[in-house]
Amino acid sequence: MELKPCPFCGETVAPRLTSYGYIWCDNGCKTAFNTTDEIFNTRPIEDALLEAAKAGLEYVRTSCGQVVRKQRLKEQLSSAIEQAEGSNHE
Ligand SMILES: [Zn+2]
Repeated sequence: MELKPCPFCGETVAPRLTSYGYIWCDNGCKTAFNTTDEIFNTRPIEDALLEAAKAGLEYVRTSCGQVVRKQRLKEQLSSAIEQAEGSNHE
């Protein structure tokens, strides 16, 4: 199983059995994690934040789409009104 990056420094970790723990970050933070690969890769808060970010991006994307559609509708209506007014003056 590929391990996720270190939750503290974001660098690559490696499985290495030491007296301090099984998973070892030998980068900036020099931290050992005494846990299994599965538990190390379980990041409920990170997963929830990613889901919230995706939902936020989807909301912005669809909301922007509605603004564009409303703007297009407004332009079409304005154009139709101008044409109708122009045809009344002929
Ligand atoms: Zn680290």
